[in-house]
Amino acid sequence: MAGGMFRWGQRGTAGAAIPARLTLQGVSKSFGAKSILKTLDLDIEAGEIVCLLGPSGCGKTTLLRLAAGIETPTAGRILLDGREVAGPDHFVEPENRGIGLMFQDYALFPHLTVRENVLFGLTAFPQDMAETAARRALARVGLETFADVYPEQLSGGEQQRVALARVVAPRPGVVLMDEPFSNLDRRMRDAVREETVALLREMGATTLIVTHDPEEAMRIADRIVLMRAGAVAQAGRPDALYRQPVDLEAARFFCDFNEIEGVVRKGRAETQLGFFDAPGLHEGTRVMVCIRPQGVRLRAAGFCLPGRLLARRFAGEVDLLEIAVSGLETPLKARLRDGQAFPEGSDVGVDIDPHEVLVFALSGP
Ligand code: ATP
Repeated sequence: MAGGMFRWGQRGTAGAAIPARLTLQGVSKSFGAKSILKTLDLDIEAGEIVCLLGPSGCGKTTLLRLAAGIETPTAGRILLDGREVAGPDHFVEPENRGIGLMFQDYALFPHLTVRENVLFGLTAFPQDMAETAARRALARVGLETFADVYPEQLSGGEQQRVALARVVAPRPGVVLMDEPFSNLDRRMRDAVREETVALLREMGATTLIVTHDPEEAMRIADRIVLMRAGAVAQAGRPDALYRQPVDLEAARFFCDFNEIEGVVRKGRAETQLGFFDAPGLHEGTRVMVCIRPQGVRLRAAGFCLPGRLLARRFAGEVDLLEIAVSGLETPLKARLRDGQAFPEGSDVGVDIDPHEVLVFALSGP
């Protein structure tokens, strides 16, 4: 490992890109008989940072590869600033799309130095301009003194910065990143992620980042596109996906809920924990009541629902508690700031904050 981990260059020195709008119109992709993307529409505004989120195998990487031009769509069109780059009429080669692509494993060339790796993305530039752009990009990520070092001599975080410098050096209008932070350990990931997003915003490039980490998507994105089985399940601002998920599956992606089944009676969901508002659901509908762990409050024994504190774990800013409540098969999970006030094994009162509850209809018998 060479040098310090977190010394990035000065913010504001990356230079500006001319961001492009990226549009997918009815894009499908099949490999043989296997349909991976299903008539997918997506419009990313110039300068917007969008996170593609979804379970493994839902087609995130395939979508990114289509946008980059590494794959061709089976049907539909891909446009950059309204100009077709893939579709029935045209196909523009990846190197002519003005797109910067960054892979999960960084894809650095081991036999090239850091400087040469960055120059590799600048072959379309005259040599003196390429040298200047490479130097500037390396300075911006704080690696100018490592220009003549080979990738294997760098830490994982530094390799990530070289890959980032290579992507931003030509100032692409669109940046596509596939799980760019997943190879970093947690402590480094937060710092690298923050600096990377600062750099992307400073440059102004339209950015599409694939991730399977909802917390990461919420931190980074102007907009999250939640994918499921090759289609868009929900797209919107991070707070909208968190607060108003379209269905139970989307909800589960963003929160580790307490899930309690119930039935709608007179407009409310009836459960072992009492009644919860169930607007718009018909009488007799089976529902899943989802309670966020931070929505479970503890009171003195004798108030609200009777429960017993089974376990308490210290987790830094909050305590994680498990509470047995009569009639419930699994204990309730709670996240509390003042958990220490309740000793393990003690009787407690359980109160649920209705603002932290979502109710979804269950299909099937
Ligand atoms: P992960 O988070 O695991 O990377 P993903 O959402 O990015 O998943 P993709 O990598 O897009 O998913 O893959 C979607 C599906 O397409 C997978 O089932 C994969 O096996 C299949 N697939 C991808 N590329 C090809 C290919 N070249 N030939 C055949 N099948 C492929």
